[in-house]
Amino acid sequence: MRYISTRGEAPALGFEDVLLTGLATDGGLYVPESLPHFSLEEIRSWRGLPYSELAFKVMHPFVDDAIPADDFRKMLDETYSVFAHKAVAPLVQLDTNEWVMELFRGPTLAFKDFALQLLGRLLDYVLEKRKQHVVIMGATSGDTGSAAIEGCRRCEHVDIFILHPHQRVSEVQRRQMTTVQGDNIHNIAVRGNFDDCQRMVKESFGNQSFLGGKTQLAAVNSINWARIMAQIVYYFHASLALGGPDRSMAFSVPTGNFGDIFAGYLAKKMGLPISQLVIATNRNDILHRFMSGNKYEQHQLEHTLSPSMDIMVSSNFERLLFDLHGRDGLAVKTLLENAAKGPVSIEDYRWKHARKLFDSDAVDDKKTCDTIREIYEQNEYLLDPHTAIGVRAARNCRRDPAVPMITLGTAHPAKFPDAVAESGLTVEPPLPTHMADLFEREERYTVLDNDISGVQEFIAKHWKNA
Ligand SMILES: *Cc1c(COP(=O)(O)O)cnc(C)c1O
Repeated sequence: MRYISTRGEAPALGFEDVLLTGLATDGGLYVPESLPHFSLEEIRSWRGLPYSELAFKVMHPFVDDAIPADDFRKMLDETYSVFAHKAVAPLVQLDTNEWVMELFRGPTLAFKDFALQLLGRLLDYVLEKRKQHVVIMGATSGDTGSAAIEGCRRCEHVDIFILHPHQRVSEVQRRQMTTVQGDNIHNIAVRGNFDDCQRMVKESFGNQSFLGGKTQLAAVNSINWARIMAQIVYYFHASLALGGPDRSMAFSVPTGNFGDIFAGYLAKKMGLPISQLVIATNRNDILHRFMSGNKYEQHQLEHTLSPSMDIMVSSNFERLLFDLHGRDGLAVKTLLENAAKGPVSIEDYRWKHARKLFDSDAVDDKKTCDTIREIYEQNEYLLDPHTAIGVRAARNCRRDPAVPMITLGTAHPAKFPDAVAESGLTVEPPLPTHMADLFEREERYTVLDNDISGVQEFIAKHWKNA
């Protein structure tokens, strides 16, 4: 399997190189040159498979000969055995033909574990084979950092440095990062804001000379192809549980960077009958504005009760634009260069094509809280604010009540107690047992000034073989 850039000018790469690469050299994102396609008969034959075996069927064509089948199977068994539920991604019924797929049973209680638990193992496998080492550097305002740290805690060939804004992440989120023990795990609290952290990461990728050529930086952010790949699996899993592939499904996806929902789009292209995908956004609604009016325009960032969806642009949307433009990299490049300067539209027939599959909705904080309260009153089931946005959008955008509607449950409500409190409920979502002692665990992090040379010096000094 070969991977090509959405901007058409970077060299094609194999799976191993795509794994270790972030952006393509032309600024684009890597996508498979062609997708595997499964017949209904083949998908049907996967009914009843344990999650990790289904994951093997769906993902093996992407990994191809980079990893021998037996090794890949073993890796997947390990990856999905750390989830605290036998079904890995259990479905919970909300109403007649309406469901939530709980993707928050992993170590950090958010769906990002599905991809990052696998990514850590993939990286270590490939680096072992190549006798290489990488430094993962990332900035986080919450979720991604902890999932990445958990994913890399057992890696031999990876050191991970995660920057978070000092005293500006919630205590649960900070503790999920800083209580993970491991010599290769380094938490840095920067005396600055999230943008400062992000800028330092970006500049460091641009000039890695501070590492002295002895190791190299790698990124695990949501544009990493392997993360998208791992997210395709649970669309198949949900469909098979509810009578697919002999009936089609609708999914509603709480969306930020468009990674999770793009995986659903790929599942459809690979042969899974999906008749509708709902893009559920918060007030940061660039995708909703595009889907409803064919205008793609950046607005100011808004801080909401669903912080993991607070974005100005959705990086993975470029991958969909690439397909909508007949995989013409130059057209995508031009469009996105223009989009950096002001509002852009795409040709009407391309936009209408996207609208055949995608609907969208933007849900503000008040409606998010209303939905948390409503679902609790109806079912005594507690939603986190991100999932609540998905459920609200699912109900607003539903096309056909005969088609099962599945909202992706992206986080556990205990991660976001403030939103639950703001909804007026007096219940407090408890942390699951395996995390109940989070507030007693020892924390490890270093506070550094908002200064890139100090941060780079720290990294150069503290990675494994420094
Ligand atoms: C990351 C995240 C999202 C958004 O997912 P994308 O793939 O960026 O669209 C939604 N909900 C939660 C809880 C998240 O952590």
